[in-house]
Amino acid sequence: MDKQQDFVLRQIEERGIKFIRLWFTDVLGTLKSVAIAPAEVEGAFNEGIGLDGSAVEGFTRRSEADMLLHPDPSTFQMLPWRGDIDPTARMFCDISTPDGQPSVTDPRRVLRRALDVASAQGFTFYVHPEIEFYLLKSDEALNGEPVPADNAGYFDNVPGGTAHDFRRRAVRILEDLGISVEYSHHEAGPGQNEIDLRFSDALNTADNVMTFRTVVKEVAIEQGVYATFMPKPMWQHPGSGMHTHVSLFEGDTNVFHEPGAEYQLSKIGRHFVAGLLKHAPEITAVTNQFVNSYKRIWGGDEAPSYACWGHNNSSALVRIPTYKPNKGGSARVEYRGIDSAANPYLAYAVLLSAGLKGVSEEYELPAEIEGDIWEMSPRERSVLGFDPLPSSLNEAISIMENSELVAETLGEQVFAYFLANKRAEWKQYRAQVTPFELASNLHAL
Ligand code: GLU
Ligand code: MG
Ligand code: MG
Repeated sequence: MDKQQDFVLRQIEERGIKFIRLWFTDVLGTLKSVAIAPAEVEGAFNEGIGLDGSAVEGFTRRSEADMLLHPDPSTFQMLPWRGDIDPTARMFCDISTPDGQPSVTDPRRVLRRALDVASAQGFTFYVHPEIEFYLLKSDEALNGEPVPADNAGYFDNVPGGTAHDFRRRAVRILEDLGISVEYSHHEAGPGQNEIDLRFSDALNTADNVMTFRTVVKEVAIEQGVYATFMPKPMWQHPGSGMHTHVSLFEGDTNVFHEPGAEYQLSKIGRHFVAGLLKHAPEITAVTNQFVNSYKRIWGGDEAPSYACWGHNNSSALVRIPTYKPNKGGSARVEYRGIDSAANPYLAYAVLLSAGLKGVSEEYELPAEIEGDIWEMSPRERSVLGFDPLPSSLNEAISIMENSELVAETLGEQVFAYFLANKRAEWKQYRAQVTPFELASNLHAL
């Protein structure tokens, strides 16, 4: 029993914790939870808790159904919204096969593997996400009609509004769970909010994103509204992105920072961005995994549609933000492609692999794009020579299918499952007759 495990066992006893939830994530990024009694925790640390993996999307083939959950004691936290009666705590788990091999289909494992590749080159990968989501009126949302919970806009301070109370409460709970929040504000769409988490290493941040989604959903229920991370719930309003700021560290040194360089972005930083841009089309199926994701990418409102970069250019896929010159540690680049419904473990893994490939192959950074990309004509854009992101899930999976980078990063089994699942989603979608078609065709034709 190591020190952290010991600490967890003592906490459970001292705080009278009655339920310990073991959390893990499936391939599409859905949080799964199984609760165990305090008496089971020691065994869970020593041997793991058995799980029928065939019941979890993408985890196992039928013939290799059994899996073991191993709680990670460093992720032990009380769940404040469960209250003081019969207190509940949670731990994230790593997953293994019964013979003790790490499960190849555990998204946490996929990210760990990508982080190991970085660490073999001396790098730690730090990320911080800006997570956008909508608050909707509950009853309507449950009946399938999204109606925003308020009519406010970007950075609006809404006196007495739901959003205000909501953010206060959500931020408070996140802080209680050890998740630091940098900013929270109303976003551009009615009912749309954004909460930005403080930077941390990518594995910790991915865990935090999973926790974040649960907290936001729970607080919404408490306040009588409905929270959704759907990428584009209403065609006429902005989508919900999960812009992610990334940087590489060597020990305590941010290797993206180089005083005196253009935008203080180092050579490694430039290669990394070049990697992100070059591989953007092939990783997009992972960072934007639903049919609906492409309504956001091509729906305007500051979601990126083209693989290009710019300094403070919010129409570009990669934005190099300005930061205070004496704050070299905060040098970073913002990847705006990921949406709020992505599996954060897989998304961070492919982002890191794409950037690192740029570093190891010393990709040349293309020219910066100034000005609004959507205002350019197709000819202007083609002269500048940057690629569009895939126009649909179908195109995204066709590009991903041929990607060695994504296959290697996800591993054979996750890669195959992901593609099969997404092909099925596309096939189902393709056969739909939509309200748009009915409205434009039914009476006119
Ligand atoms: N909602 C926009 C998106 O989908 C981003 C708005 C912003 O710049 O924060 O990416
Ligand atoms: Mg935003
Ligand atoms: Mg942003």
